[in-house]
Amino acid sequence: MIISIASGKGGTGKTTIAVNLALSLQNTQLLDCDVEEPNSHIFLRPSIAETEKVNLLTPDIGDACDWCGECACKCQFHAIVVLPENVMVFPELCHGCGLCSLVCPRDAITEVPREIGAIMRGRAGSISIVYGLLKIGEAMATPVVKAVRRETDPEKTVIIDAPPGTSCPVIASVEGSDYCILVTEPTPFGLYDLKIAVEVIRLLGIPFGVLVNKSGIGDRGVYDYCGAEKIAVLLEIPYDEEIARWYSGGVAFVERMPEWKDRFREMFECIKETARERS
Ligand code: SF4
Ligand code: SF4
Repeated sequence: MIISIASGKGGTGKTTIAVNLALSLQNTQLLDCDVEEPNSHIFLRPSIAETEKVNLLTPDIGDACDWCGECACKCQFHAIVVLPENVMVFPELCHGCGLCSLVCPRDAITEVPREIGAIMRGRAGSISIVYGLLKIGEAMATPVVKAVRRETDPEKTVIIDAPPGTSCPVIASVEGSDYCILVTEPTPFGLYDLKIAVEVIRLLGIPFGVLVNKSGIGDRGVYDYCGAEKIAVLLEIPYDEEIARWYSGGVAFVERMPEWKDRFREMFECIKETARERS
């Protein structure tokens, strides 16, 4: 079963939920797809067994080019500019789609790999963990996310820590999940971003529910919205000094407050039931 953890905005505690859920269940794999800022390894402190580079194929223009301009005309991302006697490629804009080499009438384009990040494979106790890391200055997070997603182990309960927001890397992270947990805070800002996230997850057709983190702050807006939209509130985690203290010390709070493991397991059983009914 694949459960993705997402949120419309950063700082809601998505990684905390992913890590604590992974620690509460048996036979889990954690895929940290928040490749611009992977944090789950800070809490789990895995031993990394392997690192693999993630490359993107980008065009290299050869001598056969006659500057016809076809490649620049077809590139949707403006990654190629053709001048009267020169072709300029902007690798940081290239999505590696390969269209330019397909349309080149002179067969002048070779696709060459360009390193944009890496994935790390390791273990933390019984948890298998894979996380991606986008190189500083690189803009294309999605290929690194996809490389992490390819590591999905069908024999395990897979927990995906998605990046914040609702952009392409988020879609690449949550697509194909059996269930998505949307993490939010009970504040007007949390509600605003939650509504956008709900729209996206509904479009993807993934069953989902809401986990309210830092409950007790803010207002009732998130609860009223979930009630009106018939969205399940799966769990509430209070704004609690002890939880905050463990978090700031890089400790997953279920390790020190084991009663929470049972609550995460109950939530998991509820999720399994919903996913089963929908399938
Ligand atoms: S590979 Fe795709 S994105 Fe990159 S330059 Fe060619 S057409 Fe543009
Ligand atoms: S399509 Fe081929 S020949 Fe035409 S400008 Fe691009 S690389 Fe050169």
